[in-house]
Amino acid sequence: MALDRNSSPNDLSAFWMPFTANRQFKAAPRMLVGAEGMYYRTADGRQVLDGTAGLWCCNAGHCRPKITEAVQKQVAELDYAPAFQMGHPKAFELASALRDMAPEGMEHVFFTNSGSESVETALKIAIAYHRARGEGARTRLIGRERGYHGVNFGGISVGGIGPNRKMFGSLLTGVDHLPHTHLPDQNAFTRGQPEHGANLADDLERLVALHGADTIAAVIVEPMSGSTGVLLPPKGYLERLREITKKHGILLIFDEVITGFGRLGSSFAAEHFGVLPDLMTTAKGLTNGVIPMGAVLTTAGVHDAFMQGPEHMIEFFHGYTYSGNPIASAAGLATLETYREEGLFENAAALAPYWEEALHSLKGLPHVIDIRNMGLIGAVELEPIAGEPTKRAFTAFLNAFEKDLMIRTTGDIIAMSPPLMINKAQIDELFGKLTDVLKALD
Ligand code: PLP
Repeated sequence: MALDRNSSPNDLSAFWMPFTANRQFKAAPRMLVGAEGMYYRTADGRQVLDGTAGLWCCNAGHCRPKITEAVQKQVAELDYAPAFQMGHPKAFELASALRDMAPEGMEHVFFTNSGSESVETALKIAIAYHRARGEGARTRLIGRERGYHGVNFGGISVGGIGPNRKMFGSLLTGVDHLPHTHLPDQNAFTRGQPEHGANLADDLERLVALHGADTIAAVIVEPMSGSTGVLLPPKGYLERLREITKKHGILLIFDEVITGFGRLGSSFAAEHFGVLPDLMTTAKGLTNGVIPMGAVLTTAGVHDAFMQGPEHMIEFFHGYTYSGNPIASAAGLATLETYREEGLFENAAALAPYWEEALHSLKGLPHVIDIRNMGLIGAVELEPIAGEPTKRAFTAFLNAFEKDLMIRTTGDIIAMSPPLMINKAQIDELFGKLTDVLKALD
């Protein structure tokens, strides 16, 4: 059937939109048609301040020339090359650049196409690692309540967000969850890491006592939970998790899909908190969101356990058609260079106190029950409307967009994570608009 190009922009019915209230959107679409630097452009010609770096991914801002040019050049030079039993230079260069940027001890990189795939990959590496070392009974995976690890079956099994799990059957068996660390009674309006809750890591000892350490492969946590509404690790919590996992030979996986690439003012959260996991999952900011790509980083110890057997044999039966795709690799290399050349992680660190001050000035506005922050990330938790959870924050989101500001909401929490190129005037613009939105909320 011939495509009627004239009708397609007005026909919104075919695209079943992800994580979207489809009927609401299609009744009143919010269409983005362009972007540059800190701003999106809408179909009706407005400039919208990007308060969320797209979906936590455009850390260098939008349509950055170096990345655009690298993609254009690569697509004309080598469009695709398989990474199964073949190679091309840029994937190796990007792996080395990532290793150099990562905390010392992270030595090897396995490429994927998304955060969800990075999570599945890391969970499979963890289980296979133990098996390769003769500890095949270690198959149990431990996640955390309110954790978000993407949307594939492994990720939602170890994840702890109810609506992401409950429609999808029995999920993986042999999974347990640590308690989440959100303690508003004790920690509300904390700036940075909260004081209370490190002891919640001790729950891992309870799970070890229950199942036996020799059945547990890995613990996976976001060092700072983004998608569930910006939950920061209590002081000492990650250190304690590291201590307990190490003691019992359990691998520790940090899901750094959001916290990677400068969000906290350091390359990775592992560096920021000074806690080295065994595996790190990344995506999003790896290519500035321009081309889908993810990566799992591992220590030499994890990687080397696989490097045995006859040399002609595949060591790990896993990979994607687009693992290390040339265009994604070119985008990744140009992205990492942009971060470095423009000192964007340093900018995030330098602006963090200003950001914190501006964010916490919202305290006292109607319905605000908590505010949390770290690096260039911030959350404002609103009191839910009785009987209508999520509606108040969603209204704030819609009203902010009307005022040319893009924020993100999850439950009744507003989350903000602007591109790291933001400046003080734009921080003022962001919080000025948000203040107006919050003041007008019912
Ligand atoms: N893990 C974490 C911590 C995330 O925040 C996300 C996405 O927000 C994912 C995994 C999934 O990433 P993707 O949507 O690229 O599959």
